[in-house]
Amino acid sequence: MKCKICNHELISEPVLEIKNPDRFEAFIGADETSFKRTWHKCSSCSVFQAVHYEGMDEKLAQISDKYYSIDFGDLASGDRFNRILKIPNQRSDNYYRVKRVANFYRNWIQQFKKSSTPSILDIGGGLGVFLYKYLKVNPDFTGVMIEPDRQSTVHIDHSFPFEFHNQLFSGQKEYQRSFDIVTLNKVVEHIEKPHKLLSDVQKVLNDKHGLLYIEIPDEMNVYYKPSSDNSLGSLHHHLYNHLSLNYLLDSTGYTVLRIERIFEASGKISMYAFAISKNAEKQWLTH
Ligand SMILES: [Zn+2]
Repeated sequence: MKCKICNHELISEPVLEIKNPDRFEAFIGADETSFKRTWHKCSSCSVFQAVHYEGMDEKLAQISDKYYSIDFGDLASGDRFNRILKIPNQRSDNYYRVKRVANFYRNWIQQFKKSSTPSILDIGGGLGVFLYKYLKVNPDFTGVMIEPDRQSTVHIDHSFPFEFHNQLFSGQKEYQRSFDIVTLNKVVEHIEKPHKLLSDVQKVLNDKHGLLYIEIPDEMNVYYKPSSDNSLGSLHHHLYNHLSLNYLLDSTGYTVLRIERIFEASGKISMYAFAISKNAEKQWLTH
């Protein structure tokens, strides 16, 4: 079995074998008696990769437009948005995420002569809670959100403080606006081969100081969470550590500024990184 991040061999002995289908696998009729899904460590880049059996990965891809309804039934996206917005700060992952991104940016940008309005693009923004909160706390920014899932974005209308597009991001011309920050919050683990997405992001980042913020599930979930935990669920292709996240970013044209492991307010174990393009690195270190 090949690693989809670095193309080397996965270690055949799994780090975890899951014997019960999750809600998505149950939805497509996984047989409970013979079911298994395994997680394997890559022998080279050290990423953890999920291995599916009996064509389950293809069946899961076919129901990708039903994920929201499998999870939340008829619950309107606006009700979910309001529910998450009401979570008190000390229990809110978004509260800390907003602080983390804004604080890093404020420190970072001091080194550059930046006078125009700062801008942030959130790719795969889901319900829009992160960007909504970010712009409330940082009203000097303009924001754009892209999310392909219609059902999770029904409530986003013109009263929202950001521009919204219901589509998949592929580095389209209309987004090539030299963004100061691009965020990928719990997006990359959903993509089997995230290399193209990450190189497409470079087309829309400011080429002198544009920051990528990426946040993904940590490999530690394998050791510290029950095998039914969302982080280990069927929609996630990879789990990362410092080495594998650095490898992924480096191999797609980025220079990592910071990587950190976090235990989030909700109990999630995650990794995040701030990175700049290699082109920006040269300008930064020689200006
Ligand atoms: Zn690998």
